[in-house]
Amino acid sequence: MDGLARRRETPVADRMLQFVRVPQQTPEKRPVETRREDFTEIYRRFDVPHAAAQASRCSQCGVPFCSIHCPLSNHIPDWLKLTAEGRLEEAYEVSSATNNFPEICGRICPQDRLCEGNCVIEKGFESVTIGAVERFITDTAFDRGWVQPPRPRRERAQSIGIIGAGPAGLAAAEQLRRVGYQVHVYDRHDRVGGLMIYGIPGFKLEKEIVLRRWRLLEEGGIVFHLESEIGPALPLAELRARHAAVLIATGVYQARDIGGPGAGLPGIVPALTYLTASNRLGLGDTVADFASGTLDARGKHVVVIGGGDTAMDCVRTAVRQGAASVKCLYRRDRANMPGSMREVRHAEEEGVEFVWLSAPEAFTGGDADGTVERVRAVHMHLGLPDASGRQSVEAVAGSHFSLPADLVIKALGFDPEDLPRAFGEKALEVSRWGTLKVNQRSLMTSLPGVFAAGDIVRGASLVVWAIRDGRDAAVQMHAWLQQDAIVSAAAE
Ligand code: FAD
Ligand code: SF4
Ligand code: SF4
Repeated sequence: MDGLARRRETPVADRMLQFVRVPQQTPEKRPVETRREDFTEIYRRFDVPHAAAQASRCSQCGVPFCSIHCPLSNHIPDWLKLTAEGRLEEAYEVSSATNNFPEICGRICPQDRLCEGNCVIEKGFESVTIGAVERFITDTAFDRGWVQPPRPRRERAQSIGIIGAGPAGLAAAEQLRRVGYQVHVYDRHDRVGGLMIYGIPGFKLEKEIVLRRWRLLEEGGIVFHLESEIGPALPLAELRARHAAVLIATGVYQARDIGGPGAGLPGIVPALTYLTASNRLGLGDTVADFASGTLDARGKHVVVIGGGDTAMDCVRTAVRQGAASVKCLYRRDRANMPGSMREVRHAEEEGVEFVWLSAPEAFTGGDADGTVERVRAVHMHLGLPDASGRQSVEAVAGSHFSLPADLVIKALGFDPEDLPRAFGEKALEVSRWGTLKVNQRSLMTSLPGVFAAGDIVRGASLVVWAIRDGRDAAVQMHAWLQQDAIVSAAAE
């Protein structure tokens, strides 16, 4: 009898709750020396016995805190149990019922802050490796041909326009296609995926994972209008006239800037410009600014400013491009950084140096072409908490220091663009942060029939929240369209 067959014959009670016997094990992590050299994901995939063994550590909580803290309320204990029993196709059915892209969330969710961080296995026994099992289930489902394009039971004549092919737009598109709408997705980029394709690097999320979802959605009948920017050339009003309802899922892209003398020198670049160039290269595109060396870290002293996940992606990309040195300058300390601790650990293993409690003040360039050569910085200390509860930061007098830097990458976060102006729609209401205002219940903006989801509503967030928002918006759009149809029929 093989291992799996034996597992199937073992009573469930004996099969689960194995955390006391089976230690936590993540999938094999590639050695630093080899992973520094390429953009391949750093974790390998579980094989069937390891996935089953790790899933069996779950204690099947009556009130599963892991699910409560998953933005998608995934039925985690259920698919863990099915995986432990070797019932992988059923595990896939359960997992994909609440998540459009489980293999993506399994790879890039900050599980330490979400599901795994809230796993209640007794202290001393580490959490169940939920993300790795989730990824394993759907990767296996793809290998075995279980993942099918969205196929509606009946077609509906109404069409829906979605602006933005990021996770929020794609999740909404899939859900709406499943109930039969003719779905059209518009994106200014030439590829589908939003930040999953051009922001997040391949060592966290290989591009083929995103591309295969794109192929599947197209097979399911979703029409993509790429290199179609909604703005002066194609106004929102025109899109609204074309479609029965519209969803805005455009994300947030206005990079926060840095001030001080020399902040505009050549060689100081925004994070997303740098990461997009690197991702495009990986996808086989020619990138002029990379070929000219402007966005290539090879042989350079690189300083990345910021402490979030975008900064972590930049430092680790620079390592892989062959930088001479990579430093991350962050004004708070390790405990107070917004980025995931797991990503900081990976970066440190790969040779990144963190200069905590430090902020840049000025940049100086070389005589020849003015390209940045040094960053002048100052040490900071943490003061009293402000109104938000976060400790303020203050410069330590006389603590200036300077670092060599041939490439400075600004990774200070993103704000929304001015959408009412870009879309030529003054009536589109925004919050004081510039995010779109939606009715909390209907998820409709101030424009009738125009809904919104993802980062453009929430502010810069996570892929898993974008999926959640896209799914919720799809439900509300469907309800509104049905209601609209009833009212129209009654009026006839
Ligand atoms: P986006 O993914 O930004 O997609 C919006 C789409 O709209 C884009 O394709 C854009 O081209 C298109 N668009 C914008 N304006 C227009 C217009 N006028 N006309 C047509 N199209 C338009 N989250 C995680 O969970 N884990 C991570 O590890 C992680 N790492 C990240 C790393 C980086 C570098 C960045 C920047 C973000 C990261 N995030 C991560 C956050 C995550 O990527 C976002 O929260 C998520 O992608 C938001 O989804 P969205 O669909 O709202 O927007
Ligand atoms: Fe955890 Fe994210 Fe998967 Fe939810 S979607 S179970 S938070 S990895
Ligand atoms: Fe299993 Fe942990 Fe979730 Fe409990 S909290 S159901 S042990 S994964």
